[in-house]
Amino acid sequence: MKDFLYIGRPARVLFGAGSLQHLQREIDTIGASRALVLCTPQQREAGEQVAAILGARCAGLFDQAAMHVPIETAREARETARRLGADCAVAIGGGSTIGLGKAIALESPLPILAIPTTYAGSEMTTVFGITEGGVKKTGRDERVLPRTVIYDPELSAGLPRAMSVASGMNAIAHAAEGFYSVNTNPIIDLLAEEGIAAFGRALPVIAHGEAGSEALRQARYDALYGAWLCGTVLATVDMALHHKLCHTLGGSFGLPHAETHTVVLPQALAYNAPAAPEAMRRVARALGGASAPRAVFDLAQANGAPTSLRELGLKASDLDRACDLAMSNQYPNPRPLERAAIRQLLQDAFEGTRPA
Ligand code: NAD
Repeated sequence: MKDFLYIGRPARVLFGAGSLQHLQREIDTIGASRALVLCTPQQREAGEQVAAILGARCAGLFDQAAMHVPIETAREARETARRLGADCAVAIGGGSTIGLGKAIALESPLPILAIPTTYAGSEMTTVFGITEGGVKKTGRDERVLPRTVIYDPELSAGLPRAMSVASGMNAIAHAAEGFYSVNTNPIIDLLAEEGIAAFGRALPVIAHGEAGSEALRQARYDALYGAWLCGTVLATVDMALHHKLCHTLGGSFGLPHAETHTVVLPQALAYNAPAAPEAMRRVARALGGASAPRAVFDLAQANGAPTSLRELGLKASDLDRACDLAMSNQYPNPRPLERAAIRQLLQDAFEGTRPA
């Protein structure tokens, strides 16, 4: 075993079916009394459910959360919180809504409570992103970390099956890259393997299980548990090639977040496999497969997730520029960044080739 540094994050986590009902108590626990509820227009119903549970402790509902946190939306939400006299914000939704909560926390003293309804993992991290003039800037700041996270598997029951699988693959990517991170440690490796295994069990049932069945309910539970673990990995150790590629493809070519992770992950793992054999062994073991890149590819394909960048709308003519962008910053990765091999990785991702 190598020496390591472990830095845990102090968020309070409440996990369980129906745990949303404890929201008022959680607001009291952080010493707040008037919450601004945040959601997207698509999840207004969930926002209203939260507002109803809060009753008199609800200062208002802001339902304009949007992908990539436009700066104008962040400003409007901050101003709404100030005008309504809110002393905390409750973000219910996926990474976009939690991202809006983080943008509020960045420039005001308001604590955030996050109620994740996808598996993206943002609620566990100190990473924020804000888009200004078409450019998304990201950074890290301890102030944006939600003070409390409520994981209620009943809230992800409405996440469409296809989105659930893609979001689960997004979470697996955090854990898979955690294994070969420059600053990983044995605790994080345990969380990563357990998180991937939870998705390995859950995603086939979420994709194909009978609506309303106990198996499907249990799979939603497993998946949200996996999301917490994988989000903790993302929060604690540095990511590598896979996350950089997805950031480039999402930011510069407008590709959808979770689906891009789904397509790129098996190819990024195949690229890194020769330099990270122990990581590959543990990813494969978590999924019960013989090869990590193929096990990840097969999990996506068998459960109806996209496997090619072509089907996400990327053009073949974009691949050279994507490769240039991916090569433009050097960052720690188990295998050095080799231009020809990265270009081939992107070609394989574009075509959806099953890793050899
Ligand atoms: P999202 O938050 O953009 O959600 C996609 C859509 O699904 C939205 O319309 C949302 O309202 C809807 N939705 C979410 N949960 C639902 C549910 N249970 N039922 C029905 N509809 C539901 O998607 P995402 O993949 O969770 O988040 C992606 C964004 O989060 C990206 O911008 C990404 O950069 C960011 N992100 C940030 C971090 C971080 O650490 N800062 C980590 C992961 C993702």
